[in-house]
Amino acid sequence: MRPFEFHRAASMDEALALLARPDARALAGGTTLVDLMKLGVEAPGLLVDIGTLPLDGIALEAATLRIGALASNSAVARDPIVQGQCPALSEALLSGASGQIRNAASMGGNLMQRTRCAYFRSHDWPCNKRVPGSGCPAHEGANAHHAVLGTSDHCIAVSPSDVAVALLALDATVAIASPQGVRHVPIAAFYRLPGDTPAIETVVQPGELIIHLDVPATALAARSAYLKLRGRASYEFASASVAGAVRLEGGVVAEVAIALGGLGTVPWRDRRAERLLLGQALGEASIDRFCDALLAPARPTADNRYKLDLARGAVHHMLTRSLPC
Ligand SMILES: Cc1cc2nc3c(=O)[nH]c(=O)nc-3n(C[C@H](O)[C@H](O)[C@H](O)COP(=O)(O)OP(=O)(O)OC[C@H]3O[C@@H](n4cnc5c(N)ncnc54)[C@H](O)[C@@H]3O)c2cc1C
Ligand code: SF4
Repeated sequence: MRPFEFHRAASMDEALALLARPDARALAGGTTLVDLMKLGVEAPGLLVDIGTLPLDGIALEAATLRIGALASNSAVARDPIVQGQCPALSEALLSGASGQIRNAASMGGNLMQRTRCAYFRSHDWPCNKRVPGSGCPAHEGANAHHAVLGTSDHCIAVSPSDVAVALLALDATVAIASPQGVRHVPIAAFYRLPGDTPAIETVVQPGELIIHLDVPATALAARSAYLKLRGRASYEFASASVAGAVRLEGGVVAEVAIALGGLGTVPWRDRRAERLLLGQALGEASIDRFCDALLAPARPTADNRYKLDLARGAVHHMLTRSLPC
């Protein structure tokens, strides 16, 4: 690990001023950043500890659930309002990492975590995300856990966050602060496809801080669920996951939201595919048509084609067995 300066921010203004330095990084729970610093993948000159800022609230205001960026993954998962208003969020959080890591991990840090692509995490390999222009060995190498949706010639790394998938199905908004003020970004526009600049993963600019997440506390959100398929029952990232909610009226779909994890370079949702389900009874044929449209843009490799079957199975299970209608 390279030497670095450390500063504990006493206020939001101070944090934003310190983070204006191009080599500065915010430190929340440290469960990802410190790992990457030890591996030499991240080498900030200044660590700005934001852990003492008052950004850990969880509150229902009007019809919006506001969750502070520093609320821990455990606190959010256990919160009775979250469990009642947005069960998918709680279930997604509880499916991630371990109890100890969730206690330290923050919501903002979870959204900003980097990919688990083994080539990205090792200096023995080139990687366009770590060193732009150096190449992507995953295309021809070990890619069984890589993305099938949203890939590019430059990167096929899968988006790792479970909670981002739930937030996408729940139409959440991310509040981002800078010295110029606060902007609100729909989670659907928060992550960037890799294209030819895979090193840029989100719309968060250097020097900005996520301060909270807003989740609409709708009747649909209260019926949501999260299903995660993975190589072992705990302490494992998703091979495929689904966050979803559906409401039937007169036996046919009146409202539906389905987001996929473990398949895309970004959390994946297709509202045009969802519209195919509206007015339909939930059955093999209608769900198959939805899956065909949702997965049509997939570009699997020989080793990760299995993810398409996992995703189909997970969507069928979610829509016919997991969700209250
Ligand atoms: C062994 C292991 C298993 C895991 N399994 C899963 C899993 O199954 N599913 C899953 O979803 N996650 C998993 N994780 C990831 C874990 O959830 C994240 O490490 C954690 O949420 C990151 O939060 P943090 O507060 O520790 O972030 P930090 O490590 O402190 O920061 C991570 C990044 O976010 C930036 N950052 C932090 N806060 C902010 C903010 N407010 N605004 C802007 N930038 C910010 C930091 O600068 C840094 O770049 C796992 C992690 C580990 C180590
Ligand atoms: S898939 Fe992305 S992160 Fe992995 S080696 Fe290729 S460029 Fe790097």
